[in-house]
Amino acid sequence: AKQAGRNGMRFFDQQMQDTINARAKLEEALRMAVEQKQFELYFQIQVDQFGAATGAEALIRWIQEDGSFVSPARFIPLAEETGLILPIGDWLLDTACAQLKRWQNDPKTEHLTLAINISAAQLHQWDFCQKVEECVESYGINPQRLKLELTEGILLANIEDTISKMQKLKFLGIRFSLDDFGTGYSSLQYLKRLPLSQLKIDQSFVHDLVSNNNGQAIVSTIIAMASSLQLDVIAEGVENMAQRNYLEQLGCSRYQGYLFGRPMPAAAFRASLSQCL
Ligand code: C2E
Ligand code: CA
Ligand code: CA
Ligand code: CA
Repeated sequence: AKQAGRNGMRFFDQQMQDTINARAKLEEALRMAVEQKQFELYFQIQVDQFGAATGAEALIRWIQEDGSFVSPARFIPLAEETGLILPIGDWLLDTACAQLKRWQNDPKTEHLTLAINISAAQLHQWDFCQKVEECVESYGINPQRLKLELTEGILLANIEDTISKMQKLKFLGIRFSLDDFGTGYSSLQYLKRLPLSQLKIDQSFVHDLVSNNNGQAIVSTIIAMASSLQLDVIAEGVENMAQRNYLEQLGCSRYQGYLFGRPMPAAAFRASLSQCL
């Protein structure tokens, strides 16, 4: 047994070493990806109760030299830990504003909003507001069409700085959506202080909706909170009509999910719109 224990320990060490090596390798690859801008923005449609497009969420894709994709769920946390999220965030802001400008010059897309995901480290940069303002001005985009998605975790990290930055940007006309809502600890009291325009119901609750009473209670509560705060509410991860109809019954009339469209490159996104029109 002692022998097995030692072997077990050696096996464990080897596994840890492999994990550390894999992480170091990924970090190195990510640094190179930042230098070489191996990223692309994909766009996922958001619709109203009639199925008409109201906007899109920009989702980053890392496409490696060999054409393979690395999931943002894997590299965004690493980018946050290493600070690489800052150059990635700058690229993102610039690319998103450039896209929004193109949409504004196109009758098919001129009415759409574009939501981008903002990480904590990005928001808490001292010059974050200036960066956003400069980007909006230099591309000449309508700030009302730009939406920043923040998570509860970000808000909790440094609430006073967050609120003052949100107020500055709101003054410019930019809007905020609270992402993954329901997975954090936000109270009504605390939400009242934030200049939000939208709550985004996390997809985990949408998935539980049809089968699970708990999911229904949570979604109803979120919708009630949103309405008492006079916020717009959107559900993400909507995959089937049953979920969509249930959400509508509960009072949610904005949806995003595979039922309406997958995230896709800008050209394919635009082409998918003309099918609806
Ligand atoms: P998120 O912001 O919650 O984005 C929603 C995720 O759900 C996306 O995964 C999207 O592709 C996926 N999704 C959309 N519809 C459905 C559906 O009907 N069913 C299912 N099962 N999934 C659906 P993705 O693109 O892999 O992104 C994962 C996470 O990575 C995002 O979660 C976000 O936290 C982060 N992320 C993505 N792009 C960016 C970015 O540009 N900046 C930052 N800071 N984070 C990003
Ligand atoms: Ca999001
Ligand atoms: Ca989300
Ligand atoms: Ca999420």
